[in-house]
Amino acid sequence: MKSKTEAIIIGSMNLGEADKLVTFFSLDRGMLKGVAKNARKSFRRFGAGLETFTYCRLHLYEREHQELLRIESSDIITQPARICEDLIRSAAGAVMLELVKELAPAGERNASAFLLLAHTLQLLNAGEDPSFLLRIFEIKFLSLLGYQPKLDHCLSCGKEPKGEMIFHGMKGGVLCLDCMVSSGEPQVKLSQGAAGFYYQALRMEMDKVCRLRPSAAIMQELDRMFSAHTFHILGKGLKSMEFLTSIKTFERTVDCK
Ligand SMILES: [Zn+2]
Repeated sequence: MKSKTEAIIIGSMNLGEADKLVTFFSLDRGMLKGVAKNARKSFRRFGAGLETFTYCRLHLYEREHQELLRIESSDIITQPARICEDLIRSAAGAVMLELVKELAPAGERNASAFLLLAHTLQLLNAGEDPSFLLRIFEIKFLSLLGYQPKLDHCLSCGKEPKGEMIFHGMKGGVLCLDCMVSSGEPQVKLSQGAAGFYYQALRMEMDKVCRLRPSAAIMQELDRMFSAHTFHILGKGLKSMEFLTSIKTFERTVDCK
């Protein structure tokens, strides 16, 4: 059976002598994998249409009971080529793609999540701040997939915390200082300002959020909170996030010299 879908290429690996195994996030059926026969030799059919970050229309062929689809061809809709011109920009984009790959269910349509990724990559390509975009993407994407953390009420007593809160990764929400029992582990503190910005970013459209300028302290708090949150959802850290952090640390060291 033949079909076509809009898709964003998440990544690919070589398969045999000439083929490619391509992972993509599709508008119609969520995360999918497909084999592009002869992709490393036939430039006419695929061109740059299977490059990571490409937004394209894929022409597919599938047989019943066969897990892998066959990718017949790819028409590029937009190629965000500027993402790969900058190391931090491409590393931040890679974290977004890894989040999608790890969290979006295979074969399940989620048009809002797809459009969010397409729009965010477009803004990343246009030169918006990569770290800021990544944070906003994380806030919105996790919520669209049902992993929204609870930051407005204490998970234990139900009260609205007035001051600083502690984020509890395993419970996916905050505890007020009265309810927090120290386990000896490093605590992820969250201020009212950070929680306020989180809900604002969640409600607002992406273009409008990009006009906001939260403080560096708020962004750092949300960075730590989301690291703890995704770690507990996935049971592991994101590899691409480690890479992004190491480049940022390196750049800061170079700047200080
Ligand atoms: Zn409490």
